[in-house]
Amino acid sequence: MWKVPFVPVHVVLLLPLALLIASCAGGPSYVAEKEPWRDSSEQACLASGSVQQTAFLTPVSNLGGPGVCGAIKPFEMSAADYGRVTFRPAAILRCPMVNSVDDWVKNSIAPAAARYLGTSIVQLTVASSYSCRTRNGIAGAKLSEHGMANALDVSAFLLADGRKITVKRGWHGTADEQAFLRAVRSGACERFATVLSPDADRFHHDHFHVDLARHNRDGTYRVCR
Ligand SMILES: [Zn+2]
Repeated sequence: MWKVPFVPVHVVLLLPLALLIASCAGGPSYVAEKEPWRDSSEQACLASGSVQQTAFLTPVSNLGGPGVCGAIKPFEMSAADYGRVTFRPAAILRCPMVNSVDDWVKNSIAPAAARYLGTSIVQLTVASSYSCRTRNGIAGAKLSEHGMANALDVSAFLLADGRKITVKRGWHGTADEQAFLRAVRSGACERFATVLSPDADRFHHDHFHVDLARHNRDGTYRVCR
């Protein structure tokens, strides 16, 4: 599904083509240049004080990777919702992502687990976070948001009763699993600029990709598939 607020027609027509090659696996060959909004949105987030160091959120100094990869002050996030939902492994994320991911877990995923699965969520399986590479590992493609610590891939949800809901099986699983995962996607679409589920393409058959990319100048264009 596409949300298109106030976007010129030619952008609407071209973006789906560009996004067909969007996002996930690895590969070192790319051409990229620094985009000013990245630093300004991260600086604004850091200055707001909304992200503070805790036992579950610690700054990491050097991410490695060449060129434009990385972030000003990346964080290692090992849990969300005040430590109630752990991440395995911990995710490396920039400041705006920390806020959005925490909000997603606390106010979307946790309520969805209660509503559709009758239990609480205790852990997310992180399939990928920071990784300096192109979208889907295609040589010459645009640098992935993963390269900016601006993206997260989630492949499974561990529940308090011991069940594990994977995106791969659950997407076509029981009615409750399907409802839970679609509610999780809907919640992501309210919070992130890009959300790619198994409905998007073959690269996302086993995980949700979420990021805070800017698809148009003021960042109002969103992708939810
Ligand atoms: Zn991804």
